[in-house]
Amino acid sequence: MGIDAVKPSPVPIKEENSSNQSTSLLSFDTDISTATTAAEPSTTTVLLFSLLLSTCIALSAAVAFAILFFSSIRSTNHHHTSTAIQIARPLTKLTHPVVILISSDGFRFGYQFKTPTPNIHRLINNGTEAETGLIPVYPTLTFPNHYSIATGLYPAYHGIINNKFIDPIAGDSFTMASHEPKWWLGEPIWETIANHGLKAATYFWPGSEVKKGLWDCPVNYCAPYNESVPFEERVDTVLNYFDLPNPDIPIFMTLYFEDPDHQGHQVGPDDPQITEAISHIDALIGRLIKGLEKRGVFEDVTIIMVGDHGMVGTCDQKVIFLDDLSSWINIPTQWVKDYTPVLSIRPPSDQSPSEIVAKMNQGLSSGKVKNGDKLKVYLKEDLPKRLHYWDSDRIPPIIGLVAEGFKIEQKDLESKECGGSHGYDNAFFSMRTIFIGHGPRFPRGSFQQWVIIICKECAFASSLTPFLYQEMHKPIINLLDVPRTIEF
Ligand SMILES: [Zn+2]
Ligand SMILES: [Zn+2]
Repeated sequence: MGIDAVKPSPVPIKEENSSNQSTSLLSFDTDISTATTAAEPSTTTVLLFSLLLSTCIALSAAVAFAILFFSSIRSTNHHHTSTAIQIARPLTKLTHPVVILISSDGFRFGYQFKTPTPNIHRLINNGTEAETGLIPVYPTLTFPNHYSIATGLYPAYHGIINNKFIDPIAGDSFTMASHEPKWWLGEPIWETIANHGLKAATYFWPGSEVKKGLWDCPVNYCAPYNESVPFEERVDTVLNYFDLPNPDIPIFMTLYFEDPDHQGHQVGPDDPQITEAISHIDALIGRLIKGLEKRGVFEDVTIIMVGDHGMVGTCDQKVIFLDDLSSWINIPTQWVKDYTPVLSIRPPSDQSPSEIVAKMNQGLSSGKVKNGDKLKVYLKEDLPKRLHYWDSDRIPPIIGLVAEGFKIEQKDLESKECGGSHGYDNAFFSMRTIFIGHGPRFPRGSFQQWVIIICKECAFASSLTPFLYQEMHKPIINLLDVPRTIEF
């Protein structure tokens, strides 16, 4: 999570060295459906191709998987016969299902191929994966995404619209160390579980320390965030839960690693440090597998491994300075709630947001502002609808979308920093992360087979619009056989 000097939180740190960024699969103004299609490997089925064309960003390969999974569990619940039902294997040692949800922060899709990752690939080969990656929610930042995973809601609806922001009504500030329930809307999965009198355990997850419903962040089942805890110790704590008597084993556990996000900010996505971090993450997965095997429960446990977003290289000349717009409009620093990559501007109430947007865009498109064509400013309600980023007072009225790998700053301080960043439009391939599932209800097989099954079983092309994390959330709930207290 973090390297914030003050609070334990996933604050991006300053960039230092140059790095190559991946080729964008999407020019700045390109329509998402075209771009996403371009990102698919040639082996992807026609069905997946049509899926991507006919729906928006949410219907990624990961969603397709999640939809199938959800539908298969739903079918199970309804005692329907389907191919997917056959994937469920009976538990052999545990008396109830257990899900371990693992997050490796900033695990950009593709990192798993940088170096041998035998343990991660063991999960993939005996389970399943989002073959073309998982598309995070916008903004592609740590807290909004982790809490979307937990709640199945877009940031505008779960309230964590950025890693830090100001409540425009009360005037107080949210930071990554804010644990007051008023910030954290929706119902995270650990709360759902606690509300049903069942046990969950969280080993770091944004929002997990917030007391909501019957979830009171119980001692020994809810670790207070401390980035200095060695990763191995985190794995071992989760493993120790399996030494409890069967009824006391939590049905849901989270496990969180700050890497490779930490390294990604420092050196960008293409650097030996990333490779090393991936090897370490793989070793931790190996430690978890080995520990579960030793206890005879590996095949009984469902493991879901995800990241929260990707990473892209940023460097020196790729900057837009707001002061360069002064011939058109002056943007005082007090108006700017966040600079980059999610430019967030809240002008005083006597100013017209639409006039400000018009003047900024006039300047940016004039050809006289350095990199002006790499930033486009919107009233939040005019942002592309696929971003679902407007329906909250917490989101400032003016939002700027910046091109992949570019930064926004107030003025030119002639810094020469390079490194990595995220938070960009989730249409960029570099922002994609991973989704891997392994366990009694995940099939052993390739993702392509899944796609074919999905399309045989679901008429999803037009009807399923919820976001991928929402679809991913449902199977977790269904896996646990916990009825949901609220519907989204
Ligand atoms: Zn980060
Ligand atoms: Zn993150």
